[in-house]
Amino acid sequence: MKRICLSTPTMHGTEQQMIQEAFDSNWIAPLGPHVNAFQKEIASYAGDNSHAAVLASGTAAIHLAVILAGVREGDIVFAPALTFSASVNPVCYEKAVPVFVDSERDTWNIDPCALEKAFQKYPHPAAVIAVHLYGTPAKIDEIRSICDQHHVPLIEDAAESMGSRFKGRMTGTFGDFGIYSFNGNKIITTSGGGVLLSHDEKIIERAVFLATQARDQARYYQHSTIGYNYRMSNVLAAIGRGQMPYIDEHIRKKKEIYRQYQDAFSDISEITMNPLNFDGDANNWLSCMTIKEGCPVTPNQIMDALADNQIETRPIWKPMNLQPVFSDCDFIQIENGISVGEDIFNRGLCLPSDIKNTDEDMERIIGIIKRQFL
Ligand SMILES: *Cc1c(COP(=O)(O)O)cnc(C)c1O
Repeated sequence: MKRICLSTPTMHGTEQQMIQEAFDSNWIAPLGPHVNAFQKEIASYAGDNSHAAVLASGTAAIHLAVILAGVREGDIVFAPALTFSASVNPVCYEKAVPVFVDSERDTWNIDPCALEKAFQKYPHPAAVIAVHLYGTPAKIDEIRSICDQHHVPLIEDAAESMGSRFKGRMTGTFGDFGIYSFNGNKIITTSGGGVLLSHDEKIIERAVFLATQARDQARYYQHSTIGYNYRMSNVLAAIGRGQMPYIDEHIRKKKEIYRQYQDAFSDISEITMNPLNFDGDANNWLSCMTIKEGCPVTPNQIMDALADNQIETRPIWKPMNLQPVFSDCDFIQIENGISVGEDIFNRGLCLPSDIKNTDEDMERIIGIIKRQFL
C-alpha cells in the first residue's frame, strides 16, 4: 500500500542546480550571493515595498521580531491560543508574558472582539502576534487598526500563509513585522529556514546585525549588545531560490486539494471544511475538517482508520491555554465555557494535503473518511 503523507517537500530539480552553483563557486560558507538574491526575490514576491532578512527558521524570525518590537522582561504580549507553540515561545525567550486570546469561528484566527476585550483588561501590551492558521487569512485589517488605536506593534506570523492574500495584499505585509517559514512541510521549503519582513529597511539591517552575532563596526571583535547566530546559510538559500518559481504552482495544487475534499464531503452534513476568508485568498496550506457537534464519529476514529491504511493526518494545534507549559498564562475569550479554539481542537483534524497526491490517492483518503459516516 502506498504511503500518503500530510505535506512533504516538493522538489523540481532547479533546487539542485542552484546548490550545484553554490558548490561550484565554493560559497558553502554561511553567507553568499544566494542569501541576498533570495531575500530580494521574497521581498518582491511579498510586494508592498517589503524588505527581507532570511534566517535559520521561522521561529528565529519571530524571536527577532519580538526583540525589535521592544518587548522586555515582564511585558505582556497578546497572541492567539489556537496556533503552533513556535508563535509564542519567543515571547518567553525574552521573559515576557503571553496572554492568549481566543479564535473566531469565521477564520479560526484571533478574534478581533476578543482582542479588544484583552486590551480592556491589559491596556498596554508590548506587542500583538497574529497568525493566519493553515493559510486562511485572519481579519488582519481589523487587527491592524486595533493595534494602531493602541499604538502597539503587530507581529504577523504568516509562517503557514506565504502567498495568501487579504483584500489583494499578501499576508506578511500587514504587520510591523512579518514572518514566513521554510520548514520542510510549508508551502515552499529550504529544508529549514524562515524570513523576517518589514517595510523599514533599517529594521531589516538591525535584524541582520543581531542575526550575525551583533558585531560592532570596530577593528576588533567588539559587542555592545547580545547577538545571535540566526542567519540562513547560502546553501539553503540556494534551495529556496530553486523553489521560488514554483510557489504559485504549489498554491494552485493546494487549492485543488481543498476543493476536492470540499466537493467530496458536500453530501455529508456532519463534515465542515476549515473556513476560508471571503475577503481573502487562502493558500490552503493544509486542508482541515471538523465533525458536527453530537456526531458519534470522532477525529481519533478517522485518524486511526486512515493510519491503518498508511495515510498520515495530524490533530489540530492544541490551544496554548491548554498547554501545561503555559498553565499560568491568562486567556481571554468572549463567553465563558468551552472556548472556540478548544472546540475546533476537539472536533477537528488536518487532512493529507501533499501536492504530489494523485486523484487516486485523494479517492482513497476520501473513501475511507466517508465510510466512517455510513
Ligand atoms: C511552522 C510554524 C512556525 C515556525 O516556523 P519554523 O520555521 O519551523 O521555525 C511558526 N508559527 C507557525 C504558525 C508555524 O506553523
